[in-house]
Amino acid sequence: MQPETEPTIWIDGEFRTKETATVSVYDHGFLYGDGVFEGIRVYSGRVFESHAHLVRLYESAKSIRMTIPMSLAELSDVLEACVKKSGMTDSYIRLVVSRGPGDLGIDPRKSPRPCVIVIVDKINVYPAEVYQTGMAIITSSVTRNHSNACPPRVKSLNYLNNVLAKIEANDAGVYEAIMLNSQGNVAECTADNIFIVRSGEIQTPGTSEGILEGVTRRVVMELAKQHSIPLVEKVLQRHDVYIADEVFLTGTGAEVVPVTKIDGRVIGDGTPGPITKKIAQIYMKFARGG
Ligand code: PMP
Repeated sequence: MQPETEPTIWIDGEFRTKETATVSVYDHGFLYGDGVFEGIRVYSGRVFESHAHLVRLYESAKSIRMTIPMSLAELSDVLEACVKKSGMTDSYIRLVVSRGPGDLGIDPRKSPRPCVIVIVDKINVYPAEVYQTGMAIITSSVTRNHSNACPPRVKSLNYLNNVLAKIEANDAGVYEAIMLNSQGNVAECTADNIFIVRSGEIQTPGTSEGILEGVTRRVVMELAKQHSIPLVEKVLQRHDVYIADEVFLTGTGAEVVPVTKIDGRVIGDGTPGPITKKIAQIYMKFARGG
């Protein structure tokens, strides 16, 4: 078993070390951000929502007309083997399928074989205190990609849209930023989905607002239903977010994180609200297999 700090890396059928894990400079994932990826969590040695992540990966690939050169079942087995080899019980899997090496033009037909990469490494998480006291976020001036441009439902390697918004968050000294769609409605954050609570009802933008359909988001929606907590998909404007009783974000890395300040406005009473706490608690229980 290798030490915990060393990632386990698999590229097109072979295990590599961090030093030898390289891809071609002609790979269109590198040259053009042409490819798709997933970020998956491992809890107690179990690949969390493996099937949902793999389905989203294959759907993203289909949408950009890329054929992953192995079946979903085969790739699932590779994930399991990588997790086992890593020896880490709680980790993060980065699954990448790039268009593969081609020539210097953008034509994907010149890249006949997509490159499949699995990395199992430590998870980067928000500091523990934001889960206790809540997180401050801002609204970014960067518009979320239009669905007919670079569709947010495709988890593509082209993340510049999100990176630009994250830079604004960094400049403002916060961890996340709300991204509005081209209509000016709330879409999502740079790497997390957003939910608000109003008069006991959870509300979140629907997929037509230009969001990534987060796996965590879907799990939260199912858990809310199971626990009879009202939840609707709804068009939200900045005003709705500012006047919400509670706001929380969801994501594979973030899990469920309370938001208590947005653009200088205090959300609710400025502390994580009861519904956020309840959702966070049932989510953690579910994720950790409780
Ligand atoms: N939106 C964006 C833009 C993301 O990159 C992510 C993933 N980090 C999410 C939402 C949350 O998705 P998931 O719950 O599947 O991690």
